[in-house]
Amino acid sequence: MKLIEHFVNGKITSGKSNRTGKIFNPATGSQEGEVKLGSKEDLNTAVEVAKKAFNEWSAKPPIARARIIFKYKELIEKHSDEITKMIVSEHGKVYEDAKGSLTRGLEVVEFACGIPQMLKGEFTENVGTNIDSWSMRQPLGVCAGITPFNFPAMVPMWMFPMAIACGNTFVLKPSEKDPSCSLRLAELFREAGLPDGVFNVVNGDKEVVDAILTNKDIQAVSFVGSTPIAKYIYENAAKNEKRVQALGGAKNHCVVMPDCDLDQAVNGLMGAAYGSAGERCMAQSVAVAVGNIGDKLVASLAKKVEALKIGPGLDKTSEMGPLVTKEHLEKVKGYVDLGVKEGAKLVVDGRNIKMQGYENGFYIGGCLFDHVKKDMRIYKEEIFGPVLSVVRARDFEEATQLINDHEYGNGTSIYTRDGDVGRTFANKIKVGMVGINIPIPVPVAFHSFGGWKRSLFGDQHMHGPEGVRFYTKLKTVTSRWPSGVRSNPEFIMPTMK
Ligand code: NAD
Repeated sequence: MKLIEHFVNGKITSGKSNRTGKIFNPATGSQEGEVKLGSKEDLNTAVEVAKKAFNEWSAKPPIARARIIFKYKELIEKHSDEITKMIVSEHGKVYEDAKGSLTRGLEVVEFACGIPQMLKGEFTENVGTNIDSWSMRQPLGVCAGITPFNFPAMVPMWMFPMAIACGNTFVLKPSEKDPSCSLRLAELFREAGLPDGVFNVVNGDKEVVDAILTNKDIQAVSFVGSTPIAKYIYENAAKNEKRVQALGGAKNHCVVMPDCDLDQAVNGLMGAAYGSAGERCMAQSVAVAVGNIGDKLVASLAKKVEALKIGPGLDKTSEMGPLVTKEHLEKVKGYVDLGVKEGAKLVVDGRNIKMQGYENGFYIGGCLFDHVKKDMRIYKEEIFGPVLSVVRARDFEEATQLINDHEYGNGTSIYTRDGDVGRTFANKIKVGMVGINIPIPVPVAFHSFGGWKRSLFGDQHMHGPEGVRFYTKLKTVTSRWPSGVRSNPEFIMPTMK
């Protein structure tokens, strides 16, 4: 059985802790590996290494850092099939979807290649007579990332390429459910020429997370995961004087207007609700059917949900793979049971599918609820599985009110042929990422990713321009080179003349 260890100072290391966690293949349900669960000491060792590496790395010209990142991009492309298979075997999602998520991570690496341009400062000649002033952005030091199970390559790649391009060093704590590809990504970065100690991976659970939050040498923490843990990270990182961005859970609504192209809306919803078995923070888990479109929408969705091809991720014909663990499968099934009890109409029930040859895999079929009401727990809480709830709304105003009243504000979209309605939606909705006739409005790498309300604690979104701001601090210099003129002491607040 394979043992997944840590990556510190340019090599795989076993660390001091002997605790381990189990790694399953969700498609078969069998345990295929063990991951080391690091200790506080293991984390502190990695931070010391990263702190030492910072001096030299931060002094390297941005163009020299960019050249290494260019090589890294090529290596990731070359090893894309290998990394994709690692994602499939530990997460369960289907191959093409896993590959797409790796490509989305790679796009951040591509964006990071342009770091010399992004770090350019601002300059003003003569802010006062013969006085110049300029602002520059400098790296922070050691930064840390804590990531969720659902995007084992993409989400870490939202963080470390940006932090490292900016001149920081980095310690990543990946999800303990699917940690393998993080180690491979670290090895490839080293192969691209990254100096030892700049990028480190410490596997583990709460113990490593708490060690990150209390380590005095970590300057900034990036987190992606569920809302209760995001809040915990935000509060504790701030208490320990760190910069923090903590992205949390979601309940994304897709508004289906009566004038929309129904085929487009249904196909969009199918991918957005059931792709990656609903284990996406940008999954659309609520469809808001406006006016009289509800019956047609549900009938059309039901046919497609029943026809979903469910199977192992490496089977090219599978459209939807298993869930990540048995516990998660039980949790999702529990929510479907709850929805029935709460009085929603279960139009398609995927709870009892049997997979021939994969009887122990963590599979559930697509589930579709209709007539879900806003006081039901299946409406209020994040299920994170292939369960779509249809809510009926009288009109556009009621639909937007539902979204604005919800505690989460990660993503949302609207299907309509009316430009005025689309624009008003984008303008008024209290959500961080909005799609108009786009089912999963994940911003590309050169824009920034982040939600509103309880989907993000902190000020800066991830990657893109906000990523550069998060991983750098601003310094402003005011300078004069007087020659010959001697000035007298001035005791008043200086003003520019
Ligand atoms: P999670 O919150 O359980 O775990 C995330 C990370 O926190 C993991 O590295 C885990 O080891 C650590 N962790 C878990 N419990 C902890 C505890 N008690 N104390 C300290 N650390 C702890 O999330 P998950 O189940 O891995 O991922 C799914 C969640 O992530 C969903 O809620 C999903 O919406 C969210 N997510 C959000 C985004 C986003 O961009 N907003 C993106 C992807 C996933």
